[in-house]
Amino acid sequence: MNPYVLIVEDEADLATLLEYNLRQSGLETAIARGGEEALLMIAERAPDIIILDWMLPEISGIEVCRRLRATKATKAIPVIMLTARGDERDRVRGLETGADDYITKPFSVKELLARVQAVLRRSNPALTSDQLTHCDIVLDRKAHKVVRGTTPVHLGPTEFRLLEHFMRQPGRVFSRSQLLDAVWGNEVDVEMRTVDVHVGRLRKALNAGFDTDAIRTIRAAGYALAD
Ligand code: CA
Repeated sequence: MNPYVLIVEDEADLATLLEYNLRQSGLETAIARGGEEALLMIAERAPDIIILDWMLPEISGIEVCRRLRATKATKAIPVIMLTARGDERDRVRGLETGADDYITKPFSVKELLARVQAVLRRSNPALTSDQLTHCDIVLDRKAHKVVRGTTPVHLGPTEFRLLEHFMRQPGRVFSRSQLLDAVWGNEVDVEMRTVDVHVGRLRKALNAGFDTDAIRTIRAAGYALAD
């Protein structure tokens, strides 16, 4: 699974151009056309990074950024602010509001992609590294291999994506619907029960030959990796 970028931009052409290029470089994307929509989408699924236009209808980019920073769950999400304003004072104001980086329109897409990668690397090295490790589990994204201790774990593609999602944020509890969104994305005909089935398979594969359960079931809340 790739880092998830939310593009918040009301200019449709620019949003589409960014989406195309970000996807080409292996990132997952979604577009919000305004501040209100962005906040709803972020509440539903936290992006790994947000590209946020300053000038938006209804709620401005600055205000969106301020609200994100004031909320515990969204405080740490990296934000790159886009703006047509090149004024130094605006730049300072953008950064003061809590944007991680700031880019002035018109910009080259290549430049923006480089900034996105840089911010991602800084904010969450696990996102851009090929190997994820948690306790005795090591997942290699490039080689598509998983080992627990020294035992190779054979996983189907869905179980692999599930485990990768868990290992990105090892301490976190994911609800079924969050897992559904993250792992199955836009596939429509997937039921909540499907999540249980695949978590069950993942658990079985990880636990084979071990006494300790690699996955925690939190009643009425969801699943997490065990510590
Ligand atoms: Ca705009």
